[in-house]
Amino acid sequence: MQVTTIRARNIFDSNSYLLQAEKGFILVDTGVATRRSALVAALKDAGCRPGALRLIIITHVHTDHVGNAAFLRDKYGAPIAAHGAEMGAAEHGDMFWRPHALPVAARLAKVASTLAGVVRFEPFVPDVVIGDGQNLAPYGLDATLLHMPGHSPGSICVLTSEGLCFCGDLVRNSHGKVRRNRIVESRADYEASLARLRTLPITTVYPGHGEPFRSELLQTVF
Ligand SMILES: [Zn+2]
Ligand SMILES: [Zn+2]
Repeated sequence: MQVTTIRARNIFDSNSYLLQAEKGFILVDTGVATRRSALVAALKDAGCRPGALRLIIITHVHTDHVGNAAFLRDKYGAPIAAHGAEMGAAEHGDMFWRPHALPVAARLAKVASTLAGVVRFEPFVPDVVIGDGQNLAPYGLDATLLHMPGHSPGSICVLTSEGLCFCGDLVRNSHGKVRRNRIVESRADYEASLARLRTLPITTVYPGHGEPFRSELLQTVF
């Protein structure tokens, strides 16, 4: 399967991934709004024009992954898929909006993100609510969506039948070292998700930040 990596190249350096599907494309994450024109140019270069995008998958509702979600839905006519636990944040355009009090660890991240001015984004109501084990066959891709909470309540991974795993911010590749994320809303959920990730039939991991890496490196995460 053809995968096009689109790097935001800003302070976040977040990745979007364009996956070739049957009769079109699926986009995993959308980067930041300030890099919108570069994202659109990359989609065009890859042959993805309005009408050819079948689905926009949001690995989790953090500003560096959803900055162009509403825009792309309008421009390309593609539905947005996100996990139910991220709906409130998406609808409020606030990556730390929760229906309950924010856990202590996330409160610190919220303060830092507020100071950096990156908490808010253009709000959107997802069209497709992702459930654990949901298959992407209706969108032309042999892949499964997995609920992997911890970094945020509704974080998900995309696992293709070929063993490619788009893991969002569950782990990141920092210059060849695979690291845990520093933002963890639920430590128990996070460790369970990481343990589950290690059991999956993965060949290559495509993280939200950093270069793709071989699955063997998941055994060395620290
Ligand atoms: Zn994140
Ligand atoms: Zn991120």
